[in-house]
Amino acid sequence: MSVFEHAAFRNHEKVLFVSDEASGLKAILAVHSTVRGPAVGGCRMWSYDSSNDALTDVLRLSQGMSFKNIMADLPIGGGKSVIMRPAGDFDRVALFEAFGRALNALNGEYLSAEDVGVSPADLDAASRHTQHLVGLSSGTGDPSPITARGVFFGVQVAAERALGQNLKGVKIAVQGATGHVGAYLVRHLAEAGADLFLADINEAALKTLADEVGATIVPADEIYDVEADIFAPCALGSIVNPDTIDRFKFKAIAGAANNQLATPDMGAELQKRGILYAPDYVINAGGIINVMGDLDPRFDANWVEGKLQGLKATLGEILDRSDAGGRPANVISDEIARQRLEDARSGGKAAA
Ligand code: NAD
Repeated sequence: MSVFEHAAFRNHEKVLFVSDEASGLKAILAVHSTVRGPAVGGCRMWSYDSSNDALTDVLRLSQGMSFKNIMADLPIGGGKSVIMRPAGDFDRVALFEAFGRALNALNGEYLSAEDVGVSPADLDAASRHTQHLVGLSSGTGDPSPITARGVFFGVQVAAERALGQNLKGVKIAVQGATGHVGAYLVRHLAEAGADLFLADINEAALKTLADEVGATIVPADEIYDVEADIFAPCALGSIVNPDTIDRFKFKAIAGAANNQLATPDMGAELQKRGILYAPDYVINAGGIINVMGDLDPRFDANWVEGKLQGLKATLGEILDRSDAGGRPANVISDEIARQRLEDARSGGKAAA
């Protein structure tokens, strides 16, 4: 396994490999950048086929957090951790207690939160051994409602730019509609008068939600074919890929899911087809904005709301530059994020 030579290494400051025989913990903690403050990003537990796959995942996610955090202009850096899920039965409490002890080795340079495969109870177990955690149930708690509000603003901007109107009567297809973020987003969209098409693999919850908001249910595998104006993916990553893209009749994509583009060149493919793309990490930053309240009481509800409004302006700036230069929004967004990191590294003030 190569680390410094890894395609996704991209100037990570630190990568810590942790193995704890007693609990079976095998984890990788990646600190991409601390130039703006401690690296913050969730811990994911997944059944990786190899430690190489786990390394690739954590390095990509960690840089992604640097981009997300600096685009929201937060005084934190970017990092992420992954735990290789042990095969068979294991003691979950012991595993996360060991993860908590592992966090101490980084002395607060990395602060972890929840991500896919990790529950509030897991973080509580880790918190018995470390203080380097954010988003605990005893703190700011579930970030999903705030994430959904930021994504809602992103959908509003997408409608204004791609359709020249507000959300009243706009047809919107939501994937993962009953999820933590999806359900809050659906209610915001319904309140704004959108005409909703909802998909989720949780059929019982979907029926209840669709009845509540008066939406049309779509089978999970048909969501890409819906004749809707906007697609809001709120379930899986990589849903914009060579197999799905030619099915889209949407004019815009704006949703909560991380890593929506299977590969960066999908951004150019969307642009070719005249589909506006709101970069995922720009509009789904509400959750990370919300956990800032765990770091400093000044980051209160008013501050959070101001930051959410700021996401609209950032998305607007990205789309303006994309229109002016004829280049994909994801490319512009990555460029701005890299430039801001570069400015911060060289001691300059990050561009607004
Ligand atoms: P979640 O697990 O609560 O919701 C995901 C939903 O998608 C579930 O209802 C699930 O049944 C559904 N789903 C799974 N596979 C599906 C499929 N094939 N078709 C349709 N629906 C399917 O997760 P969440 O916390 O709501 O997060 C949703 C997405 O947003 C994830 O990609 C996550 O990384 C991203 N995100 C979440 C937050 C947050 O604050 N929770 C913040 C930033 C980004």
